[in-house]
Amino acid sequence: MEDLAAQDTSTPSYRSLLNEYKQMVESIASAFSSSEKPSPARIMSLLSSHSCDLYVKHALATKSDYSNNKSDNYFLEKHEYALRKLVERLKTELLKHGMSFHVYTEADSEVGHFDVLIKTNGSTVELEMPKGRVVIEMKTGFSINLSQLERYLLDTPTLILCRILPGHVMCIRAEDYSELLTESLADQLDKADRILEGQPILVPGTDCYGCKADCPYAKPPRWEDHRIVLRNDNFSADMDVYFKNLYPCIKTTVDLALQELNVHKGGFEVDG
Ligand code: SF4
Repeated sequence: MEDLAAQDTSTPSYRSLLNEYKQMVESIASAFSSSEKPSPARIMSLLSSHSCDLYVKHALATKSDYSNNKSDNYFLEKHEYALRKLVERLKTELLKHGMSFHVYTEADSEVGHFDVLIKTNGSTVELEMPKGRVVIEMKTGFSINLSQLERYLLDTPTLILCRILPGHVMCIRAEDYSELLTESLADQLDKADRILEGQPILVPGTDCYGCKADCPYAKPPRWEDHRIVLRNDNFSADMDVYFKNLYPCIKTTVDLALQELNVHKGGFEVDG
């Protein structure tokens, strides 16, 4: 096996491993009929987030993950509210810098020429410029998904993570973590090979809750009969911190994003 240590995301070996990974994702998808085909994002998410190969194999054949969404709508609204505020501030700051932009939606059939394209997609906001791209991941609670961040870094040179409740804003560049990305890609390729060759390795553990595989370790989902609702005192504290931290986090996030794209210098000729 090639030496995977200390590789740079710009090196041919990293790029060839990434290409191999993308081809593998396509070949897994092609094993399903068009109505049942899992999306590339779902295949990557399952491969990177679950230890049990057999769990991944069975979950690929289902439309969504086994988890139940029993959350209070407060959590969803908090998230959508923060994304709206972030996009508003981005629009304001881009206008201040004389940049033209377009907020892209999936309904757009044609996009004209703009300096910046703003795309919202679930939990992320993407800023695309002719020679640069930044993805902003907004987290409005204390949760964090490192496998998800890793997947984003396979696709973007710069990720800005914004966590409202703890007040964390961090700029993460893929080139700084090339060794981690390379090693993880190699492991996921090996896992995909085992699944495709019908030799998945069982790893009993947290994946077993709600697993639909015919396996003696399978257990019922953990949250089947429970709606996740904050107690009143926790709700007050959560909303108080959220409201107080929201704009300081958004301001830092927007500033970092515009710095990464060189908007402050009046141009967008960035590397990568
Ligand atoms: S029950 Fe557990 S060990 Fe068995 S396939 Fe599912 S996740 Fe793997």
